[in-house]
Amino acid sequence: MKVYMDNGATTRVTEPVFAAMQPYFCEIYGNPSSVHGYGRQTRRAVEAAREQVARAIGAQPREIYFTGCGTEADNWALRGAAWANAKKGRHIITTNIEHHAILHTLKQLEKEGFEVTYLPVDSDGLVTPEQLEAAIRQDTILVTIMYANNEIGTLEPIEALAAVAKRRGVLFHTDAVQAIGHVPIDVKAQQIDMLSLSGHKFHAP
Ligand SMILES: *Cc1c(COP(=O)(O)O)cnc(C)c1O
Repeated sequence: MKVYMDNGATTRVTEPVFAAMQPYFCEIYGNPSSVHGYGRQTRRAVEAAREQVARAIGAQPREIYFTGCGTEADNWALRGAAWANAKKGRHIITTNIEHHAILHTLKQLEKEGFEVTYLPVDSDGLVTPEQLEAAIRQDTILVTIMYANNEIGTLEPIEALAAVAKRRGVLFHTDAVQAIGHVPIDVKAQQIDMLSLSGHKFHAP
């Protein structure tokens, strides 16, 4: 018997998920942007999915954007927030244990003229709100700290970290790809401005 133990890398699509998707391949396949009946049918399905995702994290449906994967979500959030706020400042804060989807994007932003502070973590992989507070400067525009680490499972104190960013008027993004489905998340209560998640890490394709 084989036992799959790499669920942090990707997960199996479960039967209910597969069943829910099946009609949209060969039966209901209109372009959701089309105005005819075929399109309206798929549009309804997309909007229902948007509502489900929103409900799972305490967001409004209009705040949900579908991307191709978690890497694309991280990329888009960081690059979008950085360039949209570049006139206010060019300083970004993160930790040195982020996923490469974050670290490689920040390396590219450094080449484009942004400055990044990489906060160190303790032996348990934790970063503290005090560390974040001390690193925020006049020109800090964005903080990105992962919710759960993909290698050692550390859960960062996201609510307290986001509260610091909010108090100092800085956007707060979290890569929650490893947290969704494992811990309750409420972006409103936790003051999270932007959050990335990825279906294939919790039994979607
Ligand atoms: C898997 C993972 C990603 C990337 O998600 P993909 O959907 O595979 O692109 C980003 N961040 C973390 C923490 C991950 O575990």
